[in-house]
Amino acid sequence: MSENTSEAPPAPAAPSNFIRDIILDDLKTGKFQGRVHTRFPPEPNGYLHIGHAKSICLNFGLASEFGGKTNLRFDDTNPEKEETEYVESIMDTVRWLGFDWENRLFYASDYFGQLYDWAVQLIQTGKAYVCDLTAEQVRQYRGTLTEPGKESPYRDRSVGENLELFERMRAGEFPDGSRTLRAKIDMAAKNLNLRDPVMYRILHAEHHRTGDKWCIYPMYDFAHGQCDSIEGITHSICTLEFEDHRPLYDWYVEALGIYHPQQIEFDRLNLTYTLLSKRKLLQLVQEKRVRGWDDPRMPTLSGIRRRGYTPEAIRNFCNSIGVSKTNGILELGLLEHHVREDLNRRALRVMAVLHPLKVVIDNYPEGQVEEMEAINNPEDASAGTRQVPFSKVLYIEQDDFREDPPKQYYRLSPGKEVRLRYAYFVTCTGVVKDAQGNVTEIHCTYDPATKGGNAPDGRKVKSTIHWVSARHAIDAEVRLYETLFSTPDPGKVPEGGDVLDNLNPNSLEILTGCKLEPSLASTRPGDKYQFERLGYFCTDADSAPGQPVFNRTVPLRDSWAKIEKREKGGK
Ligand code: ATP
Ligand code: MG
Repeated sequence: MSENTSEAPPAPAAPSNFIRDIILDDLKTGKFQGRVHTRFPPEPNGYLHIGHAKSICLNFGLASEFGGKTNLRFDDTNPEKEETEYVESIMDTVRWLGFDWENRLFYASDYFGQLYDWAVQLIQTGKAYVCDLTAEQVRQYRGTLTEPGKESPYRDRSVGENLELFERMRAGEFPDGSRTLRAKIDMAAKNLNLRDPVMYRILHAEHHRTGDKWCIYPMYDFAHGQCDSIEGITHSICTLEFEDHRPLYDWYVEALGIYHPQQIEFDRLNLTYTLLSKRKLLQLVQEKRVRGWDDPRMPTLSGIRRRGYTPEAIRNFCNSIGVSKTNGILELGLLEHHVREDLNRRALRVMAVLHPLKVVIDNYPEGQVEEMEAINNPEDASAGTRQVPFSKVLYIEQDDFREDPPKQYYRLSPGKEVRLRYAYFVTCTGVVKDAQGNVTEIHCTYDPATKGGNAPDGRKVKSTIHWVSARHAIDAEVRLYETLFSTPDPGKVPEGGDVLDNLNPNSLEILTGCKLEPSLASTRPGDKYQFERLGYFCTDADSAPGQPVFNRTVPLRDSWAKIEKREKGGK
């Protein structure tokens, strides 16, 4: 186990759902002798994304709730697109999310021998045949939703001929695509998946685990249920697009007379402004539209981890969304809400100025430094306090000053008094401008009686702003992110368009010369903070000693909380 693992606690009382109800029922009737055994079956052809987290949380969550087990199984039946890099990142990610498959790591390729024997068995019982139609002809013969298919002229080959041809397919005698092994089911079946589906194809390709041992590979449908059966899976939970494949799943295990797991389908996770398809994400990486699979703008779990999302936040999100039988699209804000909620609990508060404006406190003694006590986390008393140095020259946010303040602007402006967090009241007395008229520096006076942030005479200020002492500040690069796509449903493109047309040109903004309080000098990649008044930030792996880099995980404003409040009838 890697050290950054946070063990998932037993699933909290999540709202019940239809899959749990099915399991409860099976436990009652003894359908699987009281066992609950699930699996998470990724194809190692890319990095996992937030949609996969839903499946992982469901599979591991349901099994652990009922004292069952969950296998990790790589569905590696497609040698051309699969790589060891993906296998490793997937394992790392599942662990990071807090789940443990113990000693139950499997690969569909472990079962190639057994699957081959089962294919032979179906040939022997007259339920499979070698077909010489080309892929294009197979498609033509298949028919449509309204028209039945046509039987292949090779359908009635003798068992002996089929056995011999299949053996020769395996031996590598035929070129790619020249023959297939097909199940003999029903070319007039309403469900197109039952119209003599292909079980094996010829593919002379190097497999990431079996090398060149095989030149025929089983199709997903012929592999998946049999793998479930071998592993004694009880509830084979998958997404809705497999609903139409269930009759075939059932047909194979029945025809083989082997243990029969139950396939159950649920809705895929979709999020606004987000694309959840490994194929499309791979395209973004290959075309260098992002910095890699773990670019913090990516919806991959490695991307959002680097961005600063926590496994707890993701699990809470997945538990809260439930499962259903219809696909929909969820607000990205809901995920962000869970991220804020979790980081609010655990992130240390610090002061950081992203767009610095120099402030000179004219009446503060030259050379004096005072240590101001600051609270590390108001949500967690055990996080304690720290000392933040205060001196004559500070930085504040450019946004916190207006020379000509609009109405309702309560922050700093000429003649106005504000509170500097944990420090003093200051009043703006003047501005310095450059030749173009831009404010380059402001001057203030402070009231020594207001140390700690309160006036003994009881006078109030309308605003508290944050600051960093110029002499003590650490320079940093800060990366601000917006959504990677600018449209809520980026998969939707007009004819002739491409999803990449929907990329948001402003998804990354890099700020340099940001000023941070000195407590951040020893920050390490993965550390999480709330930059007061700005948002949650996470130290990036690109940081070098003395040159920290931060990612904005999520701004503070929680539009979802507002929506929720409105929906509950509040204001
Ligand atoms: P993609 O379309 O992104 O490539 P996939 O379904 O091909 O995804 P797999 O590696 O085959 O990816 O998926 C492993 C498991 O995760 C499957 O059981 C699949 O149903 C589930 N899964 C994939 N995407 C989602 C999603 N968006 N929401 C919920 N579950 C998902
Ligand atoms: Mg897939």
